[in-house]
Amino acid sequence: MPNDLLVQSVRPLGGDLSDILILAGRIVQGPAPAGVPILDGGGRIALPGLVEAHTHLDKSLIGLPWYRNEVGPRLIDKIENERKVRRTLPIDPRRQSERQALLSVAHGSTFIRSHVDVDTECGLAGIEGVMATREALADVVAIDLVAFPQSGLLVRPGTVELLERALRLGAETVGGLDPCAIDRDPRGHVDTVFRLADKFGRGVDIHLHEPNDMGAFSMELIIERTIALGMQGKVMISHAFCLGMPDATVVDPLIDALAEARIAIMTTASASRTVPPLKRLVQAGVVVCAGSDGIRDTWGPYGNADMLERAMFVGQRYNLRRDDELTLALDVITTGGARALNLEGYGLTPGCGGDLVLVDAATIAEVVAQRPRPRTVVKRGHVTVREGMLEP
Ligand SMILES: [Zn+2]
Repeated sequence: MPNDLLVQSVRPLGGDLSDILILAGRIVQGPAPAGVPILDGGGRIALPGLVEAHTHLDKSLIGLPWYRNEVGPRLIDKIENERKVRRTLPIDPRRQSERQALLSVAHGSTFIRSHVDVDTECGLAGIEGVMATREALADVVAIDLVAFPQSGLLVRPGTVELLERALRLGAETVGGLDPCAIDRDPRGHVDTVFRLADKFGRGVDIHLHEPNDMGAFSMELIIERTIALGMQGKVMISHAFCLGMPDATVVDPLIDALAEARIAIMTTASASRTVPPLKRLVQAGVVVCAGSDGIRDTWGPYGNADMLERAMFVGQRYNLRRDDELTLALDVITTGGARALNLEGYGLTPGCGGDLVLVDAATIAEVVAQRPRPRTVVKRGHVTVREGMLEP
């Protein structure tokens, strides 16, 4: 019986011991029909599938020889270095995206949003590679693609047309990048991104690294376009470092406006930048999700695709110590990601898709702090990872 599974003796989100029955890939109320395969949970905690809400599957260097990083400090240094390195290093987007996606799955992610470079040098090679991986791994992970103008949009003529082609090929979301700092035409950049989203009926996810007032200005433009086009609930701003600036007279109205426009915020809980204020955002009703961003690429050497580790980074960066606060860190990598990506049927209750992760811990706080391994992972009723090992 494909996609049928009885997961016995688990504690959903650390609650009471119970069974979870999955039939035809959906969680249903028991009892289980005869013959349904059984997975013994052994009293472990069941979490819904983890959500990697922001990464770059097309350009990880996982499995390749160590890359010696001698890149300059500015964003543009990293962008230009990457385009140069890509000409010589064997970064095959199809192979690299599969390597990273499987690593994510082994750690418990069942959903991944990947930004994928689209530029006038690599064209659509990244999009085609990640789409092939998405198809090959459809039974183990759901992948959502953002057509991402990493090298700029208006500064590199031809990029807008390539983004259109990427959207026609099947990328779900229109990406953008630092409207002031990279394109140097903030209104032109934001208008172009939203025009594409409107034309193709897609969402928007913009990398916004710009600090302070510059970032706030770009963010205001994004909010304006979101409301003007009725795109509430379909827009994400990734990083949003400007929200970490101390000036409440600027930040507070922005947070209120984000809540009203139902724009989600993605944080990596960066250790080296100002970060958006997690608790204030959540209190204001803004959806916050998290991602690994680049994992072992020419931008940086770090990352292991473990979203429970990301939750721990969230806890550390935002000074979350109490058990109830650590629950917030888990929310960011589970329900926060699901809401930000508009995933339907997310969770562990009847009617939800049968995606879950089993971890050996007493409480959610322990899960976040200890990131227990090995993990067992289920995607739509299929066991995809058993005790840390990917199923063949
Ligand atoms: Zn990114």
